[in-house]
Amino acid sequence: MKPTKRQDGTRRKKHAGRKRGRPKALGISVHSLNEITRLLERYRLPAGILTYRAVAKELTRRSGVTITVGTVYRLAHGIEPKQPRVRAALELPAFESVKVCETCGVVHVKPCPATRKPGKPRAPRLDRRRLALELLGQLLG
Ligand SMILES: [Zn+2]
Repeated sequence: MKPTKRQDGTRRKKHAGRKRGRPKALGISVHSLNEITRLLERYRLPAGILTYRAVAKELTRRSGVTITVGTVYRLAHGIEPKQPRVRAALELPAFESVKVCETCGVVHVKPCPATRKPGKPRAPRLDRRRLALELLGQLLG
């Protein structure tokens, strides 16, 4: 821009009106579209969304919970958020705290095998014939 003379004789600044800082993103995707497409399908978002930022904006608008770009990016790459509010907004199952075994360091569904008491082994089950005879004996006195 060429400095132009004003009526009062001062010159206009060379950079007047020029925007400062980094120019805004164009909203053009630089990522492989597969991940974003998967998100669009998963959350039934309108087609034409091309960026993680746009996905985050749409999910935030829809759920009322602020979903950040980072959250969306991590979700697309298999890292789920931890905060219950965000999980609910993203239709993810809730987390529940579970006690980890002190001995093994893992979560058991069944009682811990390592801490089972080495007590008396259970008496072997009688076979059917002996069981029948046993019962008969008890019935007949
Ligand atoms: Zn254990």
